[in-house]
Amino acid sequence: MKLGILTWYHYRNYGTALQAAALSAALRKLGHQPEVIDYHSPGYFTTLPEYSLSRFARKLSNKFHRSRPSRNPRLFGEEKDLKFEAFLNRYLRFSQRCHTLADLERLNTSFDAFLCGSDQIWSPLVFHPRYFLDFVREPQRKIAYAPSIGTEEIRDRFVRSEMARLLADFDSLSVREESGRRIIQELTGRNAAVVVDPTQLLTQTDWIEAFGLRQDGGGKPYLLVYFLGNHAEYWAAAASTAEALGLELRIIPVFQSDLDRLGCIRDAVGPQEFLQLFLNAAYVCTDSFHGLSFSVLFRKPFTAFLRFSRKDPKNQNTRVLHFLEKLALTDRLWQEGNTLRLARKQPDFEEAARRLGAMRESSLAYLKEALSRVSQPETKKHVTEQNALCCGCGACAETCPVNAIRIEMNDSGFRTAQVNESLCIRCGRCLSVCPFCTETRSVPAESAALYSFKASSRDLLQSSSSGGAAFALSKTLLREGYRIAGCVYNRQKQCAEHILISSEAELPALQGSKYIQSSFAPALAQIRAYPGPVAVFGTPCQIAGARRLLADRDNILYVDLVCHGVPSDWLFRQYRQYIHRSADVDPDSMLVRFRAQPKGWRSFCLQAEDGVHTYTCDKEADPFFRMFEVGNCYNESCYECRWRQDSEADLRLADYWGPKFQQDPDGVSMVLCFTSAGAAAAERLHASGTLEPQPVDDYLQYQQSANHPKPVFYGDLIEALKNPKSRLDRLVSQYAVPLESRHLSRAEHFRYLLTVMRRK
Ligand SMILES: Cc1cc2nc3c(=O)[nH]c(=O)nc-3n(C[C@H](O)[C@H](O)[C@H](O)COP(=O)(O)OP(=O)(O)OC[C@H]3O[C@@H](n4cnc5c(N)ncnc54)[C@H](O)[C@@H]3O)c2cc1C
Ligand code: SF4
Ligand code: SF4
Ligand code: SF4
Repeated sequence: MKLGILTWYHYRNYGTALQAAALSAALRKLGHQPEVIDYHSPGYFTTLPEYSLSRFARKLSNKFHRSRPSRNPRLFGEEKDLKFEAFLNRYLRFSQRCHTLADLERLNTSFDAFLCGSDQIWSPLVFHPRYFLDFVREPQRKIAYAPSIGTEEIRDRFVRSEMARLLADFDSLSVREESGRRIIQELTGRNAAVVVDPTQLLTQTDWIEAFGLRQDGGGKPYLLVYFLGNHAEYWAAAASTAEALGLELRIIPVFQSDLDRLGCIRDAVGPQEFLQLFLNAAYVCTDSFHGLSFSVLFRKPFTAFLRFSRKDPKNQNTRVLHFLEKLALTDRLWQEGNTLRLARKQPDFEEAARRLGAMRESSLAYLKEALSRVSQPETKKHVTEQNALCCGCGACAETCPVNAIRIEMNDSGFRTAQVNESLCIRCGRCLSVCPFCTETRSVPAESAALYSFKASSRDLLQSSSSGGAAFALSKTLLREGYRIAGCVYNRQKQCAEHILISSEAELPALQGSKYIQSSFAPALAQIRAYPGPVAVFGTPCQIAGARRLLADRDNILYVDLVCHGVPSDWLFRQYRQYIHRSADVDPDSMLVRFRAQPKGWRSFCLQAEDGVHTYTCDKEADPFFRMFEVGNCYNESCYECRWRQDSEADLRLADYWGPKFQQDPDGVSMVLCFTSAGAAAAERLHASGTLEPQPVDDYLQYQQSANHPKPVFYGDLIEALKNPKSRLDRLVSQYAVPLESRHLSRAEHFRYLLTVMRRK
């Protein structure tokens, strides 16, 4: 079977690299073709910080420690990286590179089944649903092999409930530690198997054969030291052991200070060298789980040390203790006074090997059983079965031959595709136009040409978001016979929607960013029906959908906007109520301007009016804008956006952030040309203002380059926004302020902490 493994492999950590290589080797031995999925999450899910003085003190102390240089550039830098890379490339097969959820979902058709594990991929401190294989739809194709939760309890209630939901979707569940089994039992009522770390699925012979290790009888016998912690008494014990046994010390350096120790290895140690050092050692002193694992596998007498203080609530000693206990080797644990006794006594490797063999067998039996249950899914699918992400572009609905797809508001307040199963004939056409189901055809921003643009008309600048590029270009194109598709604010429906216009009189309604999701599908149908030239302005995902649908047309100019994300309609409904309460503006007929500029384009404010009453608020104080900025209630697709650093449009427009135009009072646009059609369109801007070439680094440096991490409390927040009894200002204090506080200086942070403590 072709198997996809999702695990950590990219940290330059021996255990991480070796467990990934071992699982692949074990699966190959069982006759399968494993590939490690080339994905590492760009960030982890955001959770709300818990505030307490001790936590704050710990944070400060961590910051202080981290600022000290602790790594040796030669041993820990490039040379070591190259050795890790060479090892991984030699022993692992990788899938195609996956950047986002959409890329992962597309792997469903390339693999028969998926495994996640091992390492601490299920740690609640770095929670991420991808490592629970959330992109695989069928539970029988998901196999957890030895993931570790790494802690004794999960304190965050959001992480707890998300984990319970994700775990329920596995047919085959196993974990690496007993504590993980207990947590899963508490969360789901299910009994997960406890299996061995992948490194222990292989025997000594397997390791030697699969990784080309050499048993080196010749050299001077040595005691190998591999300490992840730094305890003076452990170092003294290792030195006494070496002296008592007449062995040379060889130290795998971890800390800068290790370099000054006698016996420190001065060449970079990669995973291959690491294995070789353990295989040829005469004795081992280690506090690392994998260090112990290889000592036992290679039958090296050893002393085990506990890395963490038993009093530390986050200590990870359980893993080592559990391992020693299972193999009846707890007597190898160092305590004050037993150094020499341990050195002179041989561990009972016979009994340990017997026990480890039994554990290995039962772990392999678990794997075989899980793999035997894998069944192939139905191949022909439609868009909502194939992928979880949808921006509501409407391309699928337009292409469906039986009108089975409608774009409707979903429960979370986003327009997305809904498929009528009874009409669907499973032709698969919708998949071919969806910007999330298909390969991206994006051009990277690095290879685009950047310009700054500032319209010459002051009025135009006042009514646009930045430099008025969209208006100026639209006006010229209208005069050349183009129609323009752009977004307006619809007062009757209280929403943003795209329309297709043909006259200059309609143009002002398109000006200004509407920071809510625009209804795009009806305009897309109009564009498709109109055979003449059209310029389409929209978010990058809308443009990507339109381009796929209209692939046979050569008279369309695509213009996208740098896009932060679009928030839930439930937030916007709350906002309208908030405006009504605070300024008496009618929530059913108001016109909202998201970027009014009475104080300049950088310090813009939000305005709403109904012809009688007016609401105005600076962006920093406005509750809608604060929620929008922290990005905690965006559409799912915005957390996995594929177009941050590249585009499928001809031209991209954005605000010219960065220091260059900071003093400009009216606004400057970034204009990024990706294609020759885009460059020709940009040329037309010369007639309406100042267009100047700029280094593309300004775009790369000052525009958001990574996706916002999705908050783990997302579901709770959406529910709170849906509740008509909620008050937006209170939701802001609860869900936005704690995240805003991450960007505060230490002094501001401290003041914030005091306010929170007082509130408690
Ligand atoms: C949701 C959203 C998020 C944005 N985030 C950023 C950002 O993080 N950084 C940044 O530099 N710029 C961002 N922009 C773009 C920025 O606000 C300006 O649109 C851009 O600088 C161009 O300004 P302008 O003066 O040329 O045109 P504007 O007068 O602002 O008009 C631009 C065009 O935007 C279109 N438009 C307006 N609202 C929407 C919408 N909701 N959906 C689709 N199209 C719409 C209109 O059709 C118009 O053609 C965002 C825009 C939107 C809509
Ligand atoms: S598979 Fe075909 S019929 Fe079904 S929703 Fe997609 S396009 Fe329509
Ligand atoms: S992103 Fe567009 S094409 Fe894909 S499912 Fe949603 S509406 Fe359809
Ligand atoms: S962030 Fe990405 S997915 Fe979300 S609206 Fe913008 S372009 Fe579309």
